[in-house]
Amino acid sequence: WVAADKAHCWHPFTRQDQWCDGDPLVLVEGDGVWLTDSEGRRYIDGNASIWTNIHGHRHPVINEAIVRQLEQVAHTSYLGFANPRASELAGRLCGLFPSGELSRVFFSDDGSTAVECAIKMEIQFRMQTGAPERTEFLAFDQCYHGDTMGAASLGGVSSFFERFRQFGFPVHHLQGIEGLEALDEAQIARTAAVVIEPLVQGVNQIHVWPNGMLRQLREWCDRHGVHLILDEVMTGFGRTGSMFACQQEEVIPDFLCCAKGITGGYMPLAATLTREAIYEAFLGGAERAFYYGHSYTANPLGCAAALASLDVFEQEQTLAQLPEKVRLLGDLLTEMQQRCSNIHAVRQCGMVAGVELRQASGEPFPYTRRVGANICEAAREHGLLTRPVLDTVVLMPPLCIDSEEIKQMCLALEAGISDTLS
Ligand code: PMP
Repeated sequence: WVAADKAHCWHPFTRQDQWCDGDPLVLVEGDGVWLTDSEGRRYIDGNASIWTNIHGHRHPVINEAIVRQLEQVAHTSYLGFANPRASELAGRLCGLFPSGELSRVFFSDDGSTAVECAIKMEIQFRMQTGAPERTEFLAFDQCYHGDTMGAASLGGVSSFFERFRQFGFPVHHLQGIEGLEALDEAQIARTAAVVIEPLVQGVNQIHVWPNGMLRQLREWCDRHGVHLILDEVMTGFGRTGSMFACQQEEVIPDFLCCAKGITGGYMPLAATLTREAIYEAFLGGAERAFYYGHSYTANPLGCAAALASLDVFEQEQTLAQLPEKVRLLGDLLTEMQQRCSNIHAVRQCGMVAGVELRQASGEPFPYTRRVGANICEAAREHGLLTRPVLDTVVLMPPLCIDSEEIKQMCLALEAGISDTLS
């Protein structure tokens, strides 16, 4: 496997020369929060398999739902056809917003395409509603919204996106909510929408926004006729403590993009939710239609997994169990910070935590020391899989993790820090 991988596979981000021992870890099995490698070693999935897994691996309810669907049909076209799982899922997703304001669901394949859809819908909506001059977008410094060209145009992480900037559409990056004050009227009049990850930015080393910021942003958007696009790809499905992060500030966006956890982390599926009035601008003939359709849109297997995942949320009272787990994780990380002078900051929002490492003087480590990456490699030897964003180690385990496993996860991280830095 390793030889074949090295011969032919091109992995995202990972450079083969940076792998531990020069070889990739081959993962072959999962069970709850645990993953097993090809040598039979077990690890806590501290990264929820790239922030996707919610109820653990091989969950019987989700497994059975997928098998049941498989015995009916694995995939059918959604262009001009419907399928029962997608119809039911769309209704249940909208039902998660009891006010009824988000009533239309557009399915796609992953987080990037969920955002891509929202941007293209926004641009076309403006053209079809007499505001074609609104062509610009606002996003936030260091934001990440996916890798397709539209989503990449929004991206604020220069190492990922700078080289593509000239091919994208105009995006102005704000430092924070205060950045809105500096915009002049002409620029506001050209703005179609603001895009933000609500409550916490994941890829920006777990940057937690100030309380109330989302509501302020919604009010600003309403005052200026600007739409609000929420990227809940990472934050959605319980990750921050509520089903969607925006619900903590009682904000309803104009577009809500979700993916990752939608199937419980089982397969690629995404959804862009929007309002009826926006949908209606795309009705009335071929020239108003939204020409965007993936081969696997509304894949019945993905929709079956997503429905089962929502069932598990109810059966296992996933959200009700969270506050205690969130508190325990926070307490353990705070205690760890007191013991370890290299932990500069612990940032947490629900079951999203970032542990930032710096030199004891408070100075960041030189980039070339790859401290975050080295700690994650060391933690692996203690039974934890996770990944860093620069020198911030990110912990985002499946939400089903229990208190014993939370303690084990934190111990493994601390051992990894101590192996690397002492
Ligand atoms: N938005 C956010 C906030 C994300 O964290 C990610 C993935 N890390 C994406 C969009 C893109 O999702 P995907 O990788 O599924 O395309």
